[in-house]
Amino acid sequence: MKIRAVLFDLDGTLLDRRATFRRHLERQLARHPGMFRPEPGSRYIRRLLELDENGSLDRAVFYDRAEAEFGLSPGSAATLVEDFERFFPEECIPLPNVHETVDVLRGLGLKLGLITNGRGLIQRRKLRGLDLETSFDSVVISEEIGCRKPDPRIFSHALAELDEPAHAAVYVGDNPEPDVLGAKGAGLYSIWRRDDFWTEPDGADHVIDDLAEVRTWVRRQGRRGGPT
Ligand SMILES: [Mg+2]
Repeated sequence: MKIRAVLFDLDGTLLDRRATFRRHLERQLARHPGMFRPEPGSRYIRRLLELDENGSLDRAVFYDRAEAEFGLSPGSAATLVEDFERFFPEECIPLPNVHETVDVLRGLGLKLGLITNGRGLIQRRKLRGLDLETSFDSVVISEEIGCRKPDPRIFSHALAELDEPAHAAVYVGDNPEPDVLGAKGAGLYSIWRRDDFWTEPDGADHVIDDLAEVRTWVRRQGRRGGPT
């Protein structure tokens, strides 16, 4: 089957979340110089990045943990969540070849979609921060439709918006369970963007290190008539 639609995850797939969050923490600590004294910022940042669990925690939970671990004054977590929500989306750094890949796939006549777990306002601001606001034919955000990856309904919702069947679509994501297993469970092809934080999942149709590899796979599917 020829691929007619390519759908992406956002955090860790288009957005270089690790680089963005490190930069965000550096700026955040600078914005709140009294909060973490008397230790130097770099020690905090190293530990905060460990606590972050690659962004899989709700930010309120993450900053509550930070407040407890560092003995910050009560209310600090709420202040830092507010700071995160205010500044992070505008600090977004894309992974390499994001814009080139989107342009090339579009040029091949493919429909493009985005499916992300998260809060509507924040995720849409991240898209704007990445200059990808108008790049997709469908943007589906878990908060806005009331279900999250790996629930197959979120994939079906996006496919309905794109007016394509699952077997003509591929989903690209970095997190094995919601992305790879989620897409497979909904009947889509699945590309795993390798991230050393996660263990390589079974069942991905293809594994990439760089987004530019997506177009090669899509073109090959067209010639082959489908994955073997
Ligand atoms: Mg992700």
